[in-house]
Amino acid sequence: MTRVPLLDLTRSDPDTDAALRAAFERVLGSGQFVMGPDVGEMECECAGYIGSMDAIGVSSGTDALILALMALGVGAGDEVVCPTYTFFATAGAVWRLGAKPVFVDVDPATFNVTPEALEAAITPRTKALMPVHLFGQSADLDGIEAVAARHGVPVVEDAAQAIGARWGARGVGTVGAFGCFSFFPTKNLGCLGDGGLVTTADPDLGRRARILRVHGMDPKYYHQEVGGNFRIDTLQAAFVRVRLAGLDAATERRRRNAAGYRERFAAAGLVRELGDDAPGGLVLPLEVDPSHTYNQFVVRVTGAQGERDRLRAFLHQEGVGCEVYYPVPLHLQACFAALGHGEGAFPVAEKAAAESLALPIFPGLTDSELDRVVDRIAAYAAARA
Ligand SMILES: *Cc1c(COP(=O)(O)O)cnc(C)c1O
Repeated sequence: MTRVPLLDLTRSDPDTDAALRAAFERVLGSGQFVMGPDVGEMECECAGYIGSMDAIGVSSGTDALILALMALGVGAGDEVVCPTYTFFATAGAVWRLGAKPVFVDVDPATFNVTPEALEAAITPRTKALMPVHLFGQSADLDGIEAVAARHGVPVVEDAAQAIGARWGARGVGTVGAFGCFSFFPTKNLGCLGDGGLVTTADPDLGRRARILRVHGMDPKYYHQEVGGNFRIDTLQAAFVRVRLAGLDAATERRRRNAAGYRERFAAAGLVRELGDDAPGGLVLPLEVDPSHTYNQFVVRVTGAQGERDRLRAFLHQEGVGCEVYYPVPLHLQACFAALGHGEGAFPVAEKAAAESLALPIFPGLTDSELDRVVDRIAAYAAARA
């Protein structure tokens, strides 16, 4: 049986591998393993790529969010508005600072938050809006910026899944007070461990974030406030530099794979419109902006309750990797029970959690593997008809 992995990080090209080994040798030889020139260079190169004034390398995407919120002074008693349908870290970062995540529902077609939903959740205690550019596609940055300006509330963009994505002419991570990125290996720009980045165009916020990154220390051994150790390893920064050089080509491969799915699913007669719940079909991800970076290719499986889980079990049996992002919206997570949200509170997110399925989309996926994924889904649909 031909297996198709959801993601295979060992499929790397020999030139990139050689460059990663050379980066390791260079850092090893330098004797400088924390901060140093590679971190500064990586920050410059990433700022250039993203189109932001400044970039600050940090220990993970999660720490990028925590650092951004800390720099904005978010703490106990404050509220931060964020989607309930996202990776845990979005709201986890808010909670870690003693603030309250105020959840909003998402748009059924894009899985992203809308400016309207964010605005409706603003109260006098709102300290920040935290949209997520989910699965690699930008949320409506113009609309979100307008809402933020109207209410005088800063935006922290969770761009962990969407480096390189744009809303029209504007890149993710360039509109909010801060943009937060992750170099976790499964992200489009992954290092060989944990790492992250914070972007900002505000020199004061940038300075503050750099100080908070090293225990609030300024100057050395003098602490005006308590920060953390949010530094990125020099080695990981050096790896990011190597991978950044190949990022556009890798994103192009992801986009090509997405187009390949669209053609094949259409040819197989499996494509359904959003809202069509007849069994045996898929609603494909809506591409609102042609810069979608496809960190994930997430389809909705139409049909009766449990249909997505049945298809997933079938695909696993057939050796086709797939995963559910995310099976439980954050408002229903046990750790947030104190917020008092019950089932039905955010119906769009709950429906998405029940219907969504991520298919293999990574850059190294081959055409015959694309064929195999579509062929197995078509076989399932035919058996259900
Ligand atoms: C991955 C991710 C994070 C956290 O990044 P880490 O580097 O794993 O800490 C935050 N938000 C979203 C939406 C993510 O996908």
